[in-house]
Amino acid sequence: MTTPTTASRVLVLNSGSSSVKYQLLDARDDSRLAVGLVERIGEETSRLVHTPLTGGGEGKRERTAPIADHAAALKAVADELAADGLGLDSPELAAIGHRVVHGGMRFTAPTVITEEVLEEIERLVPVAPLHNPANITGIRTAQALRPDLPQVAVFDTAFHTTMPESAARYAIDTETADVHRVRRYGFHGTSHAYVSRRTAELLGKDPSEVNVIVLHLGNGASASAVRGGRCVDTSMGLTPLEGLVMGTRSGDVDPAVVFHLVRNAGMSVDEVDALLNKKSGLIGLCGDNDMREIRRRVDEGDERAQLAFDVYIHRLKKYIGAYYAVLGRVDAIAFTAGVGENAAPVREAAVAGLEELGLAVDASLNAVRGDEPRLVSPEYARVAVAVVPTDEELEIMHQTYALVTEGSAGNASGIASGNASGI
Ligand code: ADP
Repeated sequence: MTTPTTASRVLVLNSGSSSVKYQLLDARDDSRLAVGLVERIGEETSRLVHTPLTGGGEGKRERTAPIADHAAALKAVADELAADGLGLDSPELAAIGHRVVHGGMRFTAPTVITEEVLEEIERLVPVAPLHNPANITGIRTAQALRPDLPQVAVFDTAFHTTMPESAARYAIDTETADVHRVRRYGFHGTSHAYVSRRTAELLGKDPSEVNVIVLHLGNGASASAVRGGRCVDTSMGLTPLEGLVMGTRSGDVDPAVVFHLVRNAGMSVDEVDALLNKKSGLIGLCGDNDMREIRRRVDEGDERAQLAFDVYIHRLKKYIGAYYAVLGRVDAIAFTAGVGENAAPVREAAVAGLEELGLAVDASLNAVRGDEPRLVSPEYARVAVAVVPTDEELEIMHQTYALVTEGSAGNASGIASGNASGI
């Protein structure tokens, strides 16, 4: 497990139950050499989309053919990379960085994967049944392909492990909670860490001086309160179901909704699970989970779309208010991920009426689109409102590279985390 000093490339893998997303990045200049994904693994119609980004590449390549399992998927990815001269056997490859969804309380930082680390990730399967098994499969597959190469796990939960017990504990019987690991873990941590740090940079300050509310609004959505670079609260909990209204997830509901549906609607626990995770949120309220489509319908006067938008914004506003109170002083609110980066009406509505809290959005700044971090608040506003595009893969690369070259996942780049999602 040695890393030649010349090796500067990191393959970032995000393994889902039936998909693998990947990016090959170079730590010397943060460049991306190739990106792609394999989806519908195990089906007849598996699809691989590979885009080389180096000069010699021939553009995007797509093929649809059965890919039986993750091992076959990764082999296919390796072949595509090799065809571009970027093969996994290259001495320039320093490590493989894996996004791992649940690291529990133990993994507070990126970790070089050993058999013991894998066993602990396995032990967390009961609290992350959809995600951790796929992550483990991805890791084992990559290990088989390059057993000599360091493999690093970067956990979605790690950034939130700094939450105080007052925020991390549910107010339920302590013994039951401890035996079954029931507590608030939070997710999207790589994104919250990255975006809060980039927001401090945008303000020209050190992260330790800045309090930020990060609103990660993708298909999955979560908010976090970050004080001086450390997370003090976040909206997702034991699972990604808690908190904000999401594309297909309800976010916060009275837990008694579950008992009610099981006892009185004849639904099984699995059916309620599917209802709250897959048929709720925006899609449950109006039949669409894409904010573009919802806004189009709102503009046409569609009442269900308007209701979905209003419920979404109401919840968002409640979390802004709650985290304002948790932090006491807020320097910035940062919007990120698909909705946060692109949907100006969401940003405008989320802070509307909060002028007393020092919050406002400048309509013309808010209308500007772009890929760079930017402010959308007027100059007079006490609290900066920022749009900060997230980049989970870049952050996983940085953390992985720092760990294998310096033995620390410290802020090699001055930034800490981004969004590879699926949560
Ligand atoms: P995830 O990674 O959680 O799947 P993303 O962060 O990619 O999600 O966000 C996807 C969502 O972003 C889409 O479902 C859509 O609602 C929203 N989105 C993307 N582009 C736009 C846009 N131009 N305007 C409004 N919403 C958008």
